[in-house]
Amino acid sequence: MDTRHDQLYQQDVHDPYLRHWHAHGNALCPECGVSYRAGRWSWEGLDDAEQAERTLCPACRRIADKAPAGNLTLAGSFVREHSDEICNLLHNTEALEKREHPLERLMTISDEAEGLMVTTTGIHLANRLGHVLEAAFKGHADYSYSDDRSALRVRWERD
Ligand SMILES: [Zn+2]
Repeated sequence: MDTRHDQLYQQDVHDPYLRHWHAHGNALCPECGVSYRAGRWSWEGLDDAEQAERTLCPACRRIADKAPAGNLTLAGSFVREHSDEICNLLHNTEALEKREHPLERLMTISDEAEGLMVTTTGIHLANRLGHVLEAAFKGHADYSYSDDRSALRVRWERD
């Protein structure tokens, strides 16, 4: 077996939304427009001549299934008083992250009793959001990965 393929496979083997993709050829997501070519996701699109399967990408599939990979809880009185600034930071961070990593997206931001609950399609964005919140507003973040590292919970708190 080709070792590069094997490594990619090992990396994604635990994520049920990614692990079948290695068998795919070119694809285009009709929902968000992201394309898949030679094992790579991008916003570059595909040439008209390229045959592409039209199918939901893993990020849109997670959104449709309401199955986030990242869950963040933002708690504490600071969060209630600065929710607009925090939401702006979340959206700006997503915009930067998904330019390079198209499958890393915000899913939902909801206002709940404990604070803001945020879900993401990828663990890297969830991790990044925790660090960006700490860098911008201090407070404290805890990160807990699932045993197979396909899901991440982040709790950030500032009073
Ligand atoms: Zn998509």
